[in-house]
Amino acid sequence: MENQTKNNSIQIDNFQRPVLSLRISITNRCNINCFYCHHDGVIAQKYEMDPSEIERISRVARNLGIKKIRLSGGEPLIREDIIDIVKKISALGFKDVSLTTNGTLLENYSEKLKETGLNRVNVSFDTLNPQTYRFITESNYLEQVKRGIKKAVSVGLYPVKVNMVLMRGLNHEEIWDMFQFCKENGAILQIIELLKTESCPDTDFFDDYHYDIGIIENQLMKKATNVKTRSFMQDRKKYFLEGGEIEVVRPMDNTEFCKNCTRLRITPDGKLKPCLLRNDNLVDLIEPIRRGDSDDELEKLFQKAITNREPYYHKC
Ligand code: SAM
Repeated sequence: MENQTKNNSIQIDNFQRPVLSLRISITNRCNINCFYCHHDGVIAQKYEMDPSEIERISRVARNLGIKKIRLSGGEPLIREDIIDIVKKISALGFKDVSLTTNGTLLENYSEKLKETGLNRVNVSFDTLNPQTYRFITESNYLEQVKRGIKKAVSVGLYPVKVNMVLMRGLNHEEIWDMFQFCKENGAILQIIELLKTESCPDTDFFDDYHYDIGIIENQLMKKATNVKTRSFMQDRKKYFLEGGEIEVVRPMDNTEFCKNCTRLRITPDGKLKPCLLRNDNLVDLIEPIRRGDSDDELEKLFQKAITNREPYYHKC
């Protein structure tokens, strides 16, 4: 099928899924070392795109109907030019510009990020226990991250979501403490089921730590005053509880997840990545950009990547 459209009209892939968001991994570097990290499915990179290349790719994406940009990594806030990157993307007029961070540098950056047009942040933060935090991240930034979350809320980044990857025996009993922390500080708790991926260096971790999120959902169902399902967000469930809400991200390794996927990705070295779980169908943008190809040529490469999109877990 030809994915031909122009002038901001939404691209639909061969499985009738609209492509609405672009997740740009701007670095593979990180200042902590979470043992379970899937590195956004990206393998080691030789170089990173510069801010004007990221801007160019974002503009082409916008012209192909993409509405949302999320910056990720690695840790996006360790790039010294992060404010310039956010500023350039925000000026393009997307409906939503967001960032996923480990929160360690958020206290310093929140104000500037808000001023330059970032809408919201997700902060990966799995535990309030210093020992568990140290075990998961091999670092001692726990208090710094807590201050970062508070600062992000206080400058008006909204919503601030706390991403908690659930791990058996490590933090699965901490959900209500984490909910309380989020409630008190104006953040939303998002519980994520541990995912097994090839890019994780040690796959044994999955058998050791995986915890069935269904058990938590049963508890939430009993306590919730209301439950909403968010279509086009992989059918995520949002549970409304007294004084706050909890969102649940089900495992990605299922057909439902693939059916509702509306996302394209970019690797730090400028390759379009049609699926988190694959690295064999990337489409390079950076070489064409560096040799001076036109926006029309880049649009064609985007369309090639969209044509490459197929559900990792069949059948939709
Ligand atoms: N450094 C940033 C951060 O910490 O948010 C962005 C990169 S991190 C790879 C993006 C998200 O992926 C985080 O919310 C993290 O918790 C999640 N993640 C990483 N590995 C995972 C896994 N094996 N299962 C589930 N979620 C995972």
